[in-house]
Amino acid sequence: MAQEIPTEQWAQVVEETGKPVVYKKIPVQKPGPDEVLVNVKYSGVCHTDLHAVNGDWPLATKLPLVGGHEGAGVVVARGSLVEDVEIGDYAGIKWINGTCLNCTFCQQSDEPLCAKALLSGYTVDGSFQQYAIAKAAHIARIPKDCDLEAISPILCAGITVYKGLKESGVRPGQTVAIVGAGGGLGSMACQYAKAMGLDIIAIDAGDEKKAMTAKLGAQHFVDFSTSKNVVSDVKAATSDGLGPHAVILVAVNEKPFQQAAEYVRPRGTVVAIGLPAGAYLRAPVFESVIKMITIKGSYVGNRSDSAEAIEFFRRGLIKAPFKTVGLSELQSVYDLMQKGAIAGRYVVDTSR
Ligand code: NAD
Ligand code: ZN
Repeated sequence: MAQEIPTEQWAQVVEETGKPVVYKKIPVQKPGPDEVLVNVKYSGVCHTDLHAVNGDWPLATKLPLVGGHEGAGVVVARGSLVEDVEIGDYAGIKWINGTCLNCTFCQQSDEPLCAKALLSGYTVDGSFQQYAIAKAAHIARIPKDCDLEAISPILCAGITVYKGLKESGVRPGQTVAIVGAGGGLGSMACQYAKAMGLDIIAIDAGDEKKAMTAKLGAQHFVDFSTSKNVVSDVKAATSDGLGPHAVILVAVNEKPFQQAAEYVRPRGTVVAIGLPAGAYLRAPVFESVIKMITIKGSYVGNRSDSAEAIEFFRRGLIKAPFKTVGLSELQSVYDLMQKGAIAGRYVVDTSR
């Protein structure tokens, strides 16, 4: 039976960048002809949401802004042109809220590169509200046998690291270094890498993250906060001492973006995913050339990557740790995240 849609709802609103978010009631919007309205039940909290609150990227957000782009919920309304999404379907609000579907990038399924892409929780309102809108073509299709709370972090963190691992070209049996392995993206990356049969070197700080990444499948841990030489410690963690075949950079500091080229294996690939504010990649030209290394960026995933990442979860291969708090407590999650004090992911429950 169709659910009754209220006219008002609870939301967390960024009214001014650099200021705490405001928990308040706002109107529920109506979906346009090619859109759906999703009753968001749970939403993961990504470091990107914190970048939006802090306003530290060279890309302006809409203001006031409802953040959030890992929203898992139930479709409660659809526009007149939408035929392939039913009321009651499970759906995900992900970072790519909509694209033109017509430009050269959309045509070759590089939708994240579309110049007209709408970004959930950044250029359009996202999932830190009870009812959120997305283009029907781009909502994540969530199978009914999936738990909406546990799947929410897949909608950005999971899709992004799955795509990044594919972009690295790493193959089963090879070694991957995951830099920032104890965070939201990093913990997911450990699980996807494990499912892909990779040997994993986790890089992060502290005993809690060391124990967590070991549980998630990492065979090795390098603590960047205590290591005297991260480059040699990472190389030493590989069986032949030549370094990892791939490096997945999901850290929120610049330094590791300037170290990875030094420890990646000859012919290896460094994939930059984390987006520390104002940071630059750096690599020694001489070693990069004679080692024939590849350095590249990876940005979320297309609709097919999203479906594949969700399927790994549905098959029970991805069990990354998360803690759930009420939507009303979102600011306290940002405070912990700012300090790097979150092992894994936080999820907010929009009903409280
Ligand atoms: P998070 O805060 O959960 O995790 C970041 C982790 O990096 C923390 O565990 C922290 O301890 C670790 N870290 C900090 N300095 C480090 C260092 N020197 N070496 C190793 N680890 C270090 O953040 P998250 O939600 O996982 O997001 C990570 C980054 O990825 C953010 O910048 C976010 O905006 C970005 N992101 C990018 C994409 C994309 O498509 N490229 C998608 C989602 C998120
Ligand atoms: Zn994200």
